[in-house]
Amino acid sequence: MKCHICGSSTRSFKDEKSGIVYYHCNGCEVIFKSPECYQSIEVQKARYDLHTNDEHDEGYRAYFQRFLDFVLPQTVDVKTALDFGCGRSTLLANILNSMNIRTDAYDPIYHPDTPYHSRKYDLVVSTEVFEHLHDPKTVFGALVELLSPGGYLAIQTQFHPQNIEAFKTWYYHKDPTHIVFFVPTTFRRLAEQYGCSYVADNGRNMVLLKKSEK
Ligand SMILES: [Zn+2]
Repeated sequence: MKCHICGSSTRSFKDEKSGIVYYHCNGCEVIFKSPECYQSIEVQKARYDLHTNDEHDEGYRAYFQRFLDFVLPQTVDVKTALDFGCGRSTLLANILNSMNIRTDAYDPIYHPDTPYHSRKYDLVVSTEVFEHLHDPKTVFGALVELLSPGGYLAIQTQFHPQNIEAFKTWYYHKDPTHIVFFVPTTFRRLAEQYGCSYVADNGRNMVLLKKSEK
């Protein structure tokens, strides 16, 4: 199977415990589950409905603050933002709004009516979304389209361990709604394809990219 992100060849491996077949790209190093594991939006929603993210929970707020502490010091002139795939809670958007960054929150299940398509943003953030996407390349391109020239795209998703045996015991792919797993190399390839520069990653789960100024 060809990689749906960079078009390179892949090699497959099987997790003996679950029986699931994975494909590991020889080019961008992404790992994705065999497409028969992809779930309909209704099945995914049933699982997301179980998430209990309490906006008043200090831990939940601190979790977003860590993300913003990585992103914001590396940006300039961010006045507007979009939280893409926010889930039920708009806490991250609320935090950004409280910092005078005018922020919209969009989610295909819980906040589908936000008119983000017609707007441009200085910053698009997307936390714990990309690992769910059937077609991450197309979504990545669509998010870059939403950026003003010189705008930033900040993504949070756990980077896979880059070792097949370690991957098999890794918790993150055991969630049935998690189907695709990235490393910084994958985001470098995506950035090249969509005219972005690679600003930084934190080596673990956060990456920041910048759209060209033109
Ligand atoms: Zn690839």
